[in-house]
Amino acid sequence: MINRNFSHIYIEEKALEYPDTATVLTHFPQATQIPITDYKTVFNRGGQRFQSQKRSAKIILAVKKNAFLYDGSRYAPNFDLPNFYYNSMMLNCVYNCDYCYLQGMYPSGNIVIFVNTEPFFAAADEVLRDKGSIYLCISYDTDLLAFENVIPNCRRWIEWAETRPNSLVELRTKSTNFSAISDMPPAKNTILAWTLSPGSVTATHEFKTPSLDSRLASVVDALNSGWRVRICIDPILNVPDWIKVYSEFIDGVLDCIPGEAVHDFSLGVFRMNSEYLDRIRTDRKDSKILFHPFVAKNKSCSYDDVTKEKMTSVVKERILARLPSATVSCQSGS
Ligand code: SF4
Repeated sequence: MINRNFSHIYIEEKALEYPDTATVLTHFPQATQIPITDYKTVFNRGGQRFQSQKRSAKIILAVKKNAFLYDGSRYAPNFDLPNFYYNSMMLNCVYNCDYCYLQGMYPSGNIVIFVNTEPFFAAADEVLRDKGSIYLCISYDTDLLAFENVIPNCRRWIEWAETRPNSLVELRTKSTNFSAISDMPPAKNTILAWTLSPGSVTATHEFKTPSLDSRLASVVDALNSGWRVRICIDPILNVPDWIKVYSEFIDGVLDCIPGEAVHDFSLGVFRMNSEYLDRIRTDRKDSKILFHPFVAKNKSCSYDDVTKEKMTSVVKERILARLPSATVSCQSGS
């Protein structure tokens, strides 16, 4: 599921007193441990090469001091739910998708795990107290489920939400690790959101991620177990012959899963903060999809409006042709 060979683990002195630190160290007994005073001295250091570090990522165990909750991003859908927030209990991801905005957002390809989990839950509880409800995405700047066998943060959030009727948690993933939580009763207040792409896109542009078929097997398991499942087709990419590629992909997905049981479908075309994209392009001459002549608007880059509209409508109509009663939402992000 994850790279078992993290060669080095940096550990903030303050992190040593938290049980999750011991848990992580138990999982990687061969790793060299390096004490540090503040994770930012490693993670934010100048002159790091994101992609070089991704090839041999190190773990950094840290104590987060503030910002346990962020307002929902304009690049992410809120599904018309009020009080939309996300959090980041980990920074960076075990996967390495060509189109991932994290390459432009973070100075380092190493993985930070925050081991002081309580304040994250306290911050979400505070919103519930103050605003009466919360829609919380817990797996945006990482893939939390892929790491669940090491730190059971998904389980913790699922349990948290089940005791809070006005909460809804979205757990987004490309992993096949449903088995890590499949012993739990299907949760009412958590949506398992699998991001899927055509097999050719996954093979070419989603490095280290599980294949489409294996992700679908996890989706089927979750649906058959009664979980709320969202299918995210995001980002839709303007790859050669994209209409055929995405139409066949939708048909293949809906041939494979019990589509009527899917909670909803979430679509979005490629979009990214312009500064992040500029930064990524300096390091990723190898990926053609990043060099499309995008249109920049409101500090965001994406395809032109006509192309965006066509891409989402082709995919949406294909889904609705097979599942007329499906709930399909489209995210523009600009
Ligand atoms: S799975 Fe998501 S967070 Fe991880 S590399 Fe891919 S796009 Fe980025």
